[in-house]
Amino acid sequence: MVRNVYLLPRIILNNMTMPIEEISIKCPKCGFVFRDFIRGSINLNLDNFDDEYLDKCMFATCPKCDTRINKGVLIVGKDGVFNFN
Ligand SMILES: [Zn+2]
Repeated sequence: MVRNVYLLPRIILNNMTMPIEEISIKCPKCGFVFRDFIRGSINLNLDNFDDEYLDKCMFATCPKCDTRINKGVLIVGKDGVFNFN
């Protein structure tokens, strides 16, 4: 199943870091479909992810044209602030 992650931002109402879910992403620029992963939400109070990993959670990069694609992950910061990306 191909999901356009631009059109389907996810709003998860619980406070936990969700498990990884494999998805197919269609590049909005060139139409190339590739496999990636998504976490429905990330809670920085519970999990200590480094910036590079967080970047991978939030953005996918098209292997064909290098377009960065926002995966729409919800991040709960250490201050408890919800950040919608
Ligand atoms: Zn592309």
